[in-house]
Amino acid sequence: MPTPVSAPRIAVIGAGPGGLTCARVLQRHGIPVTVYDREASRAARDQGGTLDLHADNGQVALEAAGLLDAFFAKARPEGQEMRTYEAASGALTGRHVPGPEEMFKPEIDRGVLRDLLLDSLAPGTVRWGHALAAVDGPAEGPRTLRFADGTTAAADLVIGADGAWSRVRRALSGALPAYGGVTFLEAWFDDVETRHPELAALVGQGGAHAADGERTMFRQRIGGGPHPRPT
Ligand SMILES: Cc1cc2nc3c(=O)[nH]c(=O)nc-3n(C[C@H](O)[C@H](O)[C@H](O)COP(=O)(O)OP(=O)(O)OC[C@H]3O[C@@H](n4cnc5c(N)ncnc54)[C@H](O)[C@@H]3O)c2cc1C
Repeated sequence: MPTPVSAPRIAVIGAGPGGLTCARVLQRHGIPVTVYDREASRAARDQGGTLDLHADNGQVALEAAGLLDAFFAKARPEGQEMRTYEAASGALTGRHVPGPEEMFKPEIDRGVLRDLLLDSLAPGTVRWGHALAAVDGPAEGPRTLRFADGTTAAADLVIGADGAWSRVRRALSGALPAYGGVTFLEAWFDDVETRHPELAALVGQGGAHAADGERTMFRQRIGGGPHPRPT
């Protein structure tokens, strides 16, 4: 009689679009997985602006996740509108309104995409409040996940989806991101149609930018009404 093989303990570090899609695909194939994220909860921070997901990359992943129809139901193709303003005068110098042939890469709010992925996972898959500090243990496994609060967990396979400053990467490589010389400052305006109609008119349905050669101001409409604030 064959020896029963227990399921490997698979840990995904990071509940961003990469880690959550990976977890969803594994679960669709009946493979157990746990996702660890450093944020305290799914509502702990704004998720940022919109993403355009193209037919030959992001949409392929969502199809594998069985979420492509749900994605199109929530996507905003009109979000591809782009306006260009002259920085000094504020004059509108360009406006691109997407045609029907460009609807292959619709925008979706990051928060909406993340909720879609989170809601598709088995309850309890994501362990919030787990900031990975390091991965150690023998290369042949099992690996030990060391979290910033001093707790640990064991894993037979660790999948790093913890963003640009990945702690998982450090278990494999000494490479670190280098500052590219560009800094982003982010501000949010809620309920723009009623509270900031001049901004709403300036931005349109998609994005608007003005650049003076050194600095760029980029504005982007996020759908779905007032943006939920972290509590
Ligand atoms: C301004 C901007 C615009 C972009 N526009 C587009 C676009 O239009 N279309 C597109 O496809 N892509 C776009 N991208 C790229 C896209 O944002 C990234 O490819 C995508 O977010 C990567 O997803 P991810 O899940 O790998 O990582 P992330 O989105 O970075 O998520 C990482 C997750 O890991 C968690 N984490 C981090 N460190 C730890 C730790 N130590 N322990 C536990 N958890 C941790 C974080 O809390 C987070 O939830 C854009 C990026 C930027 C900056």
